[in-house]
Amino acid sequence: MRITINRSKMLYLLVIAFMGGLTILLVSLFANGRTYAMHTANRHLYGSSAVESFGLIEDRNGVMLADTKNKKRVYSSDQGIRRALLQTIGDTSFYISSGVHNTFKSELTGFNMIWGINSAASGSKSNLKLTLDAKLCKTALNALEGQKGTVGVYNYKTGEVIVMVSSPTYDISNKPSDINTDKSGKYDGVYLNKLLSGVYVPGSVFKTVTAAAAIENIPDVMTRKFNCAGQYKAPDGGVIKCMGTHGTISFEKALNVSCNSAFAQLAIEIGKEKLQKTAEKMGLTQSFVCDRVNTAKGNVDLSEAGPASLGWAGIGQHTILVSPVAVMRMMGAIANGGKAVNPYFVESVIQNDGTVLYKGGSSSEKLLNVTTANTLKSLLRSNVKNYYGDSRFKGLELCAKTGTAEVGGEKSPHAWFAGFSQREDFPYAFVCIVENGGSGSGTAAPIISRVLREMDKTY
Ligand SMILES: [Zn+2]
Repeated sequence: MRITINRSKMLYLLVIAFMGGLTILLVSLFANGRTYAMHTANRHLYGSSAVESFGLIEDRNGVMLADTKNKKRVYSSDQGIRRALLQTIGDTSFYISSGVHNTFKSELTGFNMIWGINSAASGSKSNLKLTLDAKLCKTALNALEGQKGTVGVYNYKTGEVIVMVSSPTYDISNKPSDINTDKSGKYDGVYLNKLLSGVYVPGSVFKTVTAAAAIENIPDVMTRKFNCAGQYKAPDGGVIKCMGTHGTISFEKALNVSCNSAFAQLAIEIGKEKLQKTAEKMGLTQSFVCDRVNTAKGNVDLSEAGPASLGWAGIGQHTILVSPVAVMRMMGAIANGGKAVNPYFVESVIQNDGTVLYKGGSSSEKLLNVTTANTLKSLLRSNVKNYYGDSRFKGLELCAKTGTAEVGGEKSPHAWFAGFSQREDFPYAFVCIVENGGSGSGTAAPIISRVLREMDKTY
């Protein structure tokens, strides 16, 4: 009798353990099934037939960017488009981890929970549509003229990214054989989507943040006068040099001419806590998810900064680093009354049978109050109207800030141009960085002008 009871107990325990294990397995399968099936160790998928089942990738206008023909991955017939879209689409060896070939591989092969990866074999491939305009991406890459850097343009009302390019790049149909052995540095960063994953010293573009902090913390800043004798001496004796000798100028003029003396002085007056808080609030230190890519976090850490270091921080130097996409989003927020609409670039992934596997879309976040945003907007408008010159950006009504960011050593500074069009019918924000390109106004601004003027013809 005792034996029977013990046996029953044992069986009972075994059944419980079995059910428990089964539950864990099922939960885990539903939670991670996609990951298990897509794991690179799954030879079934990543053997010789690696990408033969990947579906079509097209741009916002239906331009074919990648497809599979006769079990071979083929790309656009336009070499310029292939080069411009490389980091967005990605390669088939997944060196470019943020490319959609990698981030959407399960959808591209038609993976589904019921049928597993066989769905692709049964003909139900899926089409991935980007929000990008391939022809404009090509224009942007051409405008970079082989220089390293990135260009981004997005609709600050809808979040759709229209242009996203990184340089250096290569032609995916003719991958250079020396790419992994080259020592000259010409391919440095080639696998990186620099708009989303790069971080750079912002230089004077950061004066937009210092200006926001000044507007919110110094009540009479709009009527203040600053004096620039070619440099500013901080209370601890450190000297912040200006690029010019600007004399007595207003706050607005100080931003127009990008006066280091005025902005170093402002940063010190604002104080490190408030300046840092403003940078955080404007989204420059946070990462956000852009179609499964975690964007790069910036770095604004002023906790140890003395007066001179804080002065340098106020003009975007010191140890400050920002990601291009965060700056573009911040500019979009200024255009949008303080509300940042998060950028996205994957419109949808739809299976041949009509099943929607992924739908891109945007969330939004309030970065600034309306008054600060509108004051900044008029200041950035003044930069272009009164200083850079509207004639360089015909009909675009730009609001913007240039940056010429010192990177130390013998290297030329990074050239920046970031801002937006204030036109209701042309709601686009942008960022352009040319690494070691020199002057922001001289090098980066003409690139944006070329891209936006081309875009203005059809958008
Ligand atoms: Zn100055």
